Formats: sequence, structure tokens, C-alpha cells
Amino acid sequence: MSAAGFEPVIGLEIHAQLLTATKAFCGCGARFGGAPNAHVCPVCLGLPGALPVLNRRAVELAMRAGLALGCTIQHRSIFARKNYFYPDLPKGYQISQYERPLATDGELVYEADDGPHATRILRVHLEEDAGKSLHVGTGDGDRHTYLDFNRSGVPLIEIVTHPDLRSPREAADFFVRLRAILLAIGVNDGNMEEGSLRCDANVSIRPVGTSALGVKVEVKNLNSFRFLQRAIEHELVRQSEQLNAGAEVVQETRLWDEAAGRTASMRSKEEAHDYRYFPEPDLPPLEVSDEWIADVRAGLPELPDARKQRFMRDYGLSATDAAQLADTAELARFFEATAASAGNPKAACNWVMGEVTRRLKVEDAGIEAVGVSPDALGRLIRLVDTGVINGSAAKSVFDHMYGSGREPDDIVQTEALAQIGDEGELNEVVARVIAEHTDAVARYLEGNEGSLGFLVGQVMRATRGRANPKLANELLRRTLAD
Ligand code: ADP
Ligand code: MG
Ligand code: ZN
Repeated sequence: MSAAGFEPVIGLEIHAQLLTATKAFCGCGARFGGAPNAHVCPVCLGLPGALPVLNRRAVELAMRAGLALGCTIQHRSIFARKNYFYPDLPKGYQISQYERPLATDGELVYEADDGPHATRILRVHLEEDAGKSLHVGTGDGDRHTYLDFNRSGVPLIEIVTHPDLRSPREAADFFVRLRAILLAIGVNDGNMEEGSLRCDANVSIRPVGTSALGVKVEVKNLNSFRFLQRAIEHELVRQSEQLNAGAEVVQETRLWDEAAGRTASMRSKEEAHDYRYFPEPDLPPLEVSDEWIADVRAGLPELPDARKQRFMRDYGLSATDAAQLADTAELARFFEATAASAGNPKAACNWVMGEVTRRLKVEDAGIEAVGVSPDALGRLIRLVDTGVINGSAAKSVFDHMYGSGREPDDIVQTEALAQIGDEGELNEVVARVIAEHTDAVARYLEGNEGSLGFLVGQVMRATRGRANPKLANELLRRTLAD
């Protein structure tokens, strides 16, 4: 099994549910859940005579996505009817922008370990979701199809890339970055399990060194980064086997079967839908003014990649640290507040990436549930930087602080954790350690440097970790040199 000799060519189509309170063309609630058919009305049930009215907020969110992806917002875009017959589509058509989408010609650029990656965005358009057919969990779903129209008419954007992606890994990374952007701008909740973010992958191969596009296969509904990557990996091997065997790749739609670890044909080109698109007569063209576009642009928050660059530039963080801390607005805010309180961004980064992250992992919690305020953490860092406590005591103070709301200075006092930086006091301990460990002392005097580390360890132990390790080291050297 090998895809050698062929170059992968991949384009993605991503559907993202917009975070509006109400549906795209009616006033029904748009959020996930609720009893089946609890959020329906004549418009989203497609009853005769019901007229759609466009949700302004949906347009705004779609514009946000378009702008965040570097697209041009079209002053005039048009809704069409996409006709097909399916039980979960009561109108017999889906309202979707088609020939004239809201946003076009963007690009998503991100920094990876191997340099910058750029993927061109063909279009971002508005459409409505269909309902949902239920079989599992209905009792007699083997004989009947149940229909839930809560999702019918929920606003979506579809984001279509150019076929610019060149490996399964690159496709998955793109999807990760795209999801982070949609979350950052408040357009989508990123929940792939509930289906509010889903991805179709178009995959083809061509002989290395050629530029004509090969026949593509569309793999539908990949609802995790891993499935996306695995489905493409499998598809590349399958297609190259076809070509190596002298056969051709058939243009078709396939589905990923995670359990079997392979894709399976869903429908061929011959069975492909003929959607007979035509302009939606019940909706006027969507007109957006320059002022509206400017307003939406001004409301965009800082995007994760820009924030990462800023963290590297302003705080001197490494690319890896900056990328992690900049990924979500909440974590970034926590880090920046800690850095400000500590007056030491590097140390703030180490604490947030270290102890804080470890605690959150253990508790399986997000940064919103963190058990320490950035202000208090910053003051803890100051205690280390000013020599009041050493690094190991700081960890213990942190453990006392976490979840308790206690102040770091207070803990240092009550737990007697203040560092012993006083030469007189430490000299007594050093003398005792030297007297008790004559073997190690002898080895050190014979030139074994490692023995000094052991002796420093003994001083730390005798002071329950409170000695200033640098000073202990220095005093031991000085005493043993005499
Ligand atoms: P269709 O008309 O079949 O929907 P589009 O031209 O609209 O095809 O493209 C749909 C998606 O397929 C886009 O993401 C595009 O980048 C991708 N795509 C188009 N041709 C190829 C190809 N030969 N190989 C891989 N992806 C492709
Ligand atoms: Mg298409
Ligand atoms: Zn409705």
C-alpha cells in the first residue's frame, strides 16, 4: 500500500452553525436540544404561504467569518432554492446562496513548525440547515422514520476552500485553525459532536510534477479532526491503488466508516442530485452597505494567530508557548493578567503552561474554572523574584492557594515557607550537614563535583526546602575550601 508517485490535492467544505438566538428565516429558537419539534413554525416547517424573513444577526455573523478569513464582502448577494427531495426537508428545497455568495476570495494563513501555510478561501455563503431523521432510540426506528424539525431553518455558513491542501495533516491543521477562528469571533460554538461544525473533504491525486487536477471524491460529514485526517489518508491510498492497477478514480460521494477504517461509496456521479437552483422569489437580494461592513470589521476581536505574533514580539515567548497561550481569548486573558501582576511575562508563561495547566488537566476543567486568580498568581511570582521564597516553596504555596482563595503572603507566613537567605542561619545548617556526611565530603575533596549536589540536597532537606539553594551551594564550597 503506497501513495508514492502521487501528489494529494484536497479542498474542504465546512458547514458551521451560526450562534444566533433565532433561525435564519423565522423567529423560532435556534439552539441545540429541546424536545423534538419544540422549535417549529409554519416557515421552518415549509407550510404553504409562509414567508421567510432574513435574520439580520445571521448576516452579521457570516460577514464576521468572511472578514476574519480575509474575504471580500459582496454588496449584493442572492439567495437561491436548492431543490431536492428528502423527508427532513419539508419545503422540498433548501434556501442557500449559490451563484452570488456573501463573501469571496479570502485566505487563511497560519504558522506551522515547517513555516507558513496559506489556503485560499473560495467563498463563504449563507444557507439554512435541514431537519433531522431519527431511527436510533425511538423504539421502532427499524420500521419508522421519525422527523425532528428543530434544526430546520437554523442558519449556517458554508466555507469552501480552493484545492490548496497537500496532505491529510495539513487539512486537519487547517480545520483546527479555522475552528479556533470561528470560536474567537463568536460565530460558532465549535461543537463537532453535536454537528454544529462539520466538514466534507474533496480528495484527488495526480502524478507528482503535473498540475492538472485529478478526479475528485467527496467524503461527507467528517465530525472530528482525527476522522478528517484518517479519511483522507485512507482515500489517498485507495485512489493510488486504483491508478496503479490501471483503473480510474470514479467521481463520487463517499462516507467515512470509522469502525471499519475505510470510506464507502454513498452515491456516484450519475446519481448526483440535480438541484435545479433558481433565485428564491420570496427573498430580495441581500444588500450590505460599506458602513455595515466597516461596523462589523471594527467589532472583530483579535484573532489567535495575530495574538500569537504579538505574544512573541511583546513578551519574548517561544512560538510554541505563544501559540498555546494565544489559542483562546480566555487563556490569553489569564496569561496577560498574570504577566501584568507579576511584572515577569516569562515566569507567568511558565506557571500558566506548567502548574496551572497541570491542575486543569487533573480536574478536567477549562481555564474558566481555574482555582487561582491571575492577580494572586502574579504576586506569588513576585515572591520568588524578590527572593522571599524559592522555587520549590513556590510550588507548595501554589498548592495551598489553588481553590482556597488564600493569599500567597499569608501562606508563606502560616506555613513558614520563607526562604532562608540569611548566611548566619544557613551556616549552622551547612556545618551540621558537613559533620554528618563525612563520606560525601571526602569524595568532594577528592574532586568529585557531584557530591556537592548531594550536600546541597541535604541542606535543602534539613531546612524543609526553605534554603536559598544558590546560597547553600556557595556556603558549602566556601566552607569546604577553607
Ligand atoms: P462541486 O461543483 O463538485 O461542488 P466545486 O468546484 O464547488 O465542486 O468544489 C468543491 C470543493 O472541492 C472545493 O473545496 C474545491 O476546492 C474542491 N475541489 C475541486 N476540485 C478538486 C479536485 N480535483 N481535487 C480535490 N479537491 C477539489
Ligand atoms: Mg460544492
Ligand atoms: Zn420557525
